[in-house]
Amino acid sequence: MRKIILISAILLISVFVYAQKKYALSKHKVKDNIYKIEIGTVNLLAFVGKDGILLSDCGFKHTGEQLDSVLLTITDKLVKYVINTHWHHDHSGGNFYFNKNAVIISQEETKKILSFDYTSEFWQEEYKAFPEKALPDITFKDKITINFSNEDVELIHLEKGHTKGDIAVYFKKSNIVHLSDHLFSFGFPAIDFEKGGSVEGFANNLQKIIEMSSSNTIFISGHGPDFNLEELKEYKNMLIETLTIIEESIQNGLNMEEIKKKEVLKDYEKWANGYFSCNDWIEIVYSSLAYKK
Ligand SMILES: [Zn+2]
Repeated sequence: MRKIILISAILLISVFVYAQKKYALSKHKVKDNIYKIEIGTVNLLAFVGKDGILLSDCGFKHTGEQLDSVLLTITDKLVKYVINTHWHHDHSGGNFYFNKNAVIISQEETKKILSFDYTSEFWQEEYKAFPEKALPDITFKDKITINFSNEDVELIHLEKGHTKGDIAVYFKKSNIVHLSDHLFSFGFPAIDFEKGGSVEGFANNLQKIIEMSSSNTIFISGHGPDFNLEELKEYKNMLIETLTIIEESIQNGLNMEEIKKKEVLKDYEKWANGYFSCNDWIEIVYSSLAYKK
């Protein structure tokens, strides 16, 4: 299993090496006072209330000041709340900048992960523990609702999906769900199985979100364009179908290289336009299934 993971890391290392790059930031109004801000391919949301800003994700550590400059083009109000949808540093690194004025909120597992040094074999990256001041101030287990500027913002734990500590941020009145990395709308997603993620859990979590949504809900991804409900259903189905195909191949006695050679995912090539090719996705799914054992 160790060998599989190390091979995978070579192929997949490109996902996180962009961490230190310089980025152009852009902003788009999603609806009313909710803005999507793109830092490279990372999407985050800024909800501008009458007393301040609520940020759902905050980008990299080194883009905090740049993000603040973009927010200043929208309002001179301060960031009051920062939600970390999960621990990955392209979504939570801005804690270092915004912790001065903002209360930081995450699911409890995310704070635990951020509290310790960690070296990932699969992603071939070293992560340093966040200092106390950059860690979330408030954590929760299953769900909390924040009423901010007359909008109920529900934070819903999505367990064992992208990681074990992801949350969906549901702006109820605006009917917008920030799924963050529980949706890579460019293509196949990353599964951080070393930190409790799984393909099956990812699909189950999307099903839960689909059931609480309506035909005009807007889904904001962590990376890639916005989705509507039909697109999200198709994405969830793709996850279940490709997982089933790979599991059946394993049951039929094929190893990872044999599964790749058989091109079992050739009908799913439309999802290979993001970070991961069909063969990368076979590696991610295969390695995540092997990791459980
Ligand atoms: Zn992530």
